[in-house]
Amino acid sequence: MKRCPFCNKPIEGRSDKVFCDDRCRNNYYYRVNSEQKSFIRDINSKLLKNRGILRSINSNGRDSVPKSFLEEEGFDFQCFTGIYKTKKGKDYYLVYDQAYSVGDDGRVQLVVFYRNL
Ligand SMILES: [Zn+2]
Repeated sequence: MKRCPFCNKPIEGRSDKVFCDDRCRNNYYYRVNSEQKSFIRDINSKLLKNRGILRSINSNGRDSVPKSFLEEEGFDFQCFTGIYKTKKGKDYYLVYDQAYSVGDDGRVQLVVFYRNL
């Protein structure tokens, strides 16, 4: 027996019916939409926080700090906007215009990203 994805009551009537009624359909899509928006909002806010941390440290456009320093500031290494690989094969993680690269020595190189790293 099919059940309504919103209220979980058994569906009666036509076999191709998905929801009990328009109210359940509207509520269901409103909930899905809200969850997606909130998920995206969380990621955006993490990205902006990351960018703010990098900017506040990297005020002269090129700096390096221990990785632990960024972690203590609440930097989220899972959140970045892209990856840039230099000709020498070094990966820079982009957070909008800010870029960083984690070295084997546990230090993070920070640069402001302008297409010519
Ligand atoms: Zn329903």
